[in-house]
Amino acid sequence: MTTTERSAGDLRRLAEQGAAELDQASATDILRWVDDNFGPDGWVVSSSMQDAVLVDVATRVREDVNVMFIDTGYHFPETIGTRDAVATVYPHIRLLNAQPPTTVAEQDRLEGKDLFARDPNRCCAIRKVAPMRETLGKFDAWVTGLRRAEAATRANAPAVAFNEKFGVVKINPLVTWTDEQTDRYIAQNAILINPLIEDGYPSIGCRTCTVKPAPGADPRSGRWAGTGKVECGLHG
Ligand code: SF4
Repeated sequence: MTTTERSAGDLRRLAEQGAAELDQASATDILRWVDDNFGPDGWVVSSSMQDAVLVDVATRVREDVNVMFIDTGYHFPETIGTRDAVATVYPHIRLLNAQPPTTVAEQDRLEGKDLFARDPNRCCAIRKVAPMRETLGKFDAWVTGLRRAEAATRANAPAVAFNEKFGVVKINPLVTWTDEQTDRYIAQNAILINPLIEDGYPSIGCRTCTVKPAPGADPRSGRWAGTGKVECGLHG
């Protein structure tokens, strides 16, 4: 990992160039562009450990790719187990377990118990956005598994753009993948998935803020159900 020496202006220009070149490119071609332009220490893949699709695609381009997991302290045991299984199945990846500035017990003491139930935006800011910001500060490019098909809020997501919030080039190589395409890739390549998916959780976050959606409901409706909150602040 290196602290970036490129200016925001340089990264903005590179993002514009990438967006123009890669509009119709495959996930692998997008990731080759990332590796060519940022080098092995300049980019990181983020994974929620819902599945290992993005990690699998990325390791085909760079075996020792940097992989970031935001370890909020509130994950399901199955998610932590999936993270550990991914580290075993892809032994060359450099897994970065990004942790918040406080433990859950410290947060309870400082903010009052169960902040997630009273102010989920503040809880996400402390436990997700802060560790994400600290980790992304070491990189120029952030590769995510975001797909347009996942939610209405993601329907217009670009493949490549400069991300003002974190000051990096954000790349979404799977952005055009449909649910069917993703399921096919998982089946054909025997990709690791979080066991909670088969247990009826199509979108997995912290255990405190995730419930099973009602049959036929929007797959993301089980996240922060009943609060009006739909995103954690990482992609917004
Ligand atoms: S998803 Fe819930 S528990 Fe997790 S960081 Fe956000 S508010 Fe806190």
